[in-house]
Amino acid sequence: MAMPANVPASVRKFGTAALDLLLPSQCLSCRQVVAAPGTLCGACFAKVRFLSAPCCAACGTPFEFDPGGTDALCGTCIRARPSYDRARAVFRYDDSSRSLILAFKHGDRIDAAPAYARWLARAGDALIADADLIAPVPLHWTRLFHRRYNQSALLANALARLSGRAAAPDLLRRRRRTPSQGGLDRAERVRNVRGAFAVRPASRATVAGKRILLVDDVLTTGATVEACAAVLLKAGASAVDVLTLARVVRDG
Ligand SMILES: [Zn+2]
Ligand SMILES: [Zn+2]
Repeated sequence: MAMPANVPASVRKFGTAALDLLLPSQCLSCRQVVAAPGTLCGACFAKVRFLSAPCCAACGTPFEFDPGGTDALCGTCIRARPSYDRARAVFRYDDSSRSLILAFKHGDRIDAAPAYARWLARAGDALIADADLIAPVPLHWTRLFHRRYNQSALLANALARLSGRAAAPDLLRRRRRTPSQGGLDRAERVRNVRGAFAVRPASRATVAGKRILLVDDVLTTGATVEACAAVLLKAGASAVDVLTLARVVRDG
């Protein structure tokens, strides 16, 4: 929440936590006043399509019909399993949820991180239970410079705090600035991020033998997390899981 200019210095000293007690809580999406901080108003809640089982055991694509059991794979994962073991997400990325993600990424709703961490903890409980380390998908430093924060790192750190798991914010680095993935198909996205990520040399010992939970805001085709998982496994990670706030679900 941005600090209003007319807040007295005595309150500023206590920062946002104190302000949260003084100002009414706002819906994470539309800023309507809501009863509790970190929640959506009824209208926005009804529009967000939360994901739940049954889903592909690997990539997490929701199944329309329950295949029975918890280890069924979708057609794509039967043909070629991803490098990561399991990917799960809180809600569908669509016209209704896009504003949540964009406000978190480019806007001023970084105050939503603890609330989103609670959502992630619910959607990813099995993944978190198995995780040794929670790590964000990194931004290139030039993007970090312009945006001032990495939204994935905010999510990863908040989730680590909430779940009591170790946060590893600096495991990976982005070696080059990749063009925006927007408007690219899956094959183009895979090419776009090839060689884009590396495990920091100083983090190699940390990665070895660890089960790592990668956190990002949106999973689109999975090309980015696939590239991150591949370098982590190559550096000796025992397994990689993926947890995102939103994911694109292609119908049909
Ligand atoms: Zn709302
Ligand atoms: Zn799948």
